[in-house]
Amino acid sequence: MLHTESHNALVIRAARVIDPALQRDEIADVIVVDGRYAERASAAAHVLEGQGLIVCPGLMDIHVHLREPGFEHKETIESGTAAAAAGGFTFVACMPNTKPPLDNPKTVALVLEKARQADRCTVAPIAAITRGRRGVDLTHFAALREAGAVAFSDDGDGVQDTAVMRAAFQQATRTESTVIQHCQDNQLAGKGVLHGGLVAAKLKLRGIDPAAEETMLERDLALCRETRARYHVAHVSTARAVDLIRKAKAEGLPVTAEVCTHHLALTDEACAGADPNTKMNPPLRPRADVEACRRGLVDGTIDCIVTDHAPHSPAEKAVGFAAAPFGVIGLETALGVAAGALIQPGLTGWPTLIARFTVGPASVLHLPLPHIATGQPANLTLINPAAPWTVDPLLFESRSRNTPFAGWRLAGRPVCTLRGHRLTRPAW
Ligand SMILES: [Zn+2]
Repeated sequence: MLHTESHNALVIRAARVIDPALQRDEIADVIVVDGRYAERASAAAHVLEGQGLIVCPGLMDIHVHLREPGFEHKETIESGTAAAAAGGFTFVACMPNTKPPLDNPKTVALVLEKARQADRCTVAPIAAITRGRRGVDLTHFAALREAGAVAFSDDGDGVQDTAVMRAAFQQATRTESTVIQHCQDNQLAGKGVLHGGLVAAKLKLRGIDPAAEETMLERDLALCRETRARYHVAHVSTARAVDLIRKAKAEGLPVTAEVCTHHLALTDEACAGADPNTKMNPPLRPRADVEACRRGLVDGTIDCIVTDHAPHSPAEKAVGFAAAPFGVIGLETALGVAAGALIQPGLTGWPTLIARFTVGPASVLHLPLPHIATGQPANLTLINPAAPWTVDPLLFESRSRNTPFAGWRLAGRPVCTLRGHRLTRPAW
């Protein structure tokens, strides 16, 4: 169970304050009164000693599958947002591949209402690009925006039909919306179940050609050049895709991109044991791709880190690698896994890592940049950058257990997450 306390006044004393929006990195006190940042608190305020800890704006993850409505045996909005809060997140954007899908204002409103009731984490729905996510008829972007959708994606599938995708770009331009593409040409991907490389060959399993990701990305960049619509590339996983995005940005196209924690930390070698908890889409890639994703994230080609938290029940995953559904959970391991992939090897420091979890995702969605300033609502994460901990999926808030990181020793642990009055500490 989550440990949640309520406070009217809280002082976090002498922590390292990292606030990327204000380019601030210094030891200071952070004071919260009545859910907002304040200059001073009464002597009765609850005090948290922050020595050795980092305090930063609450982490944001713009690629999460909350599974409700329709797949409540995998996750609910309540359990998914509890997992988010435990993992240090105060904001998640959720994908529309629910049942029914988020292709109409009523279902978008339902998700927002359930999230409000759960009161764990801010939830921003991403609505479908096409009705039923079938890739044929566009949804009504303006009406969905009105209902609270923050962007549009058929995630789980890429939009295959080029004419449909061009019309989506045109509607995005008219409504100043962002389209998020799961880049995958289904014909090239075929029935592949992991990266088409040496590991797939050894396991005698059908591979996914990396060109499936890259050709759709190239097509979309051409459409973006024509329409100038805001285009966000979901879960970039190949070196060539990173390179294409770097060039598109240099050209001035309105392109942004994200990378998943697992694509930063694991290669396709992790699939060698045929564990279904290493099966996701896009698949884990060879070392050179992982290194390119890490470099792209550090140099800003990739704007943000996401989890692509994709819960599946143990029974659904326990059918062998080839038959198991794609996807792994990630909300409760994201911070430690990202720190292990980027900070421990010396590729970057905490300020950049935190920027890719806060101002990066906020700017992709054109939201106000989160920052710590007197009078602003207090959404923050307190991090212990050094304390090692062991991943025990049995202690997760998520309803599912499909993580590739079970048993991993991680450093970089969310100590607590504050959202207004509510302070949440992970149980693990
Ligand atoms: Zn996807």
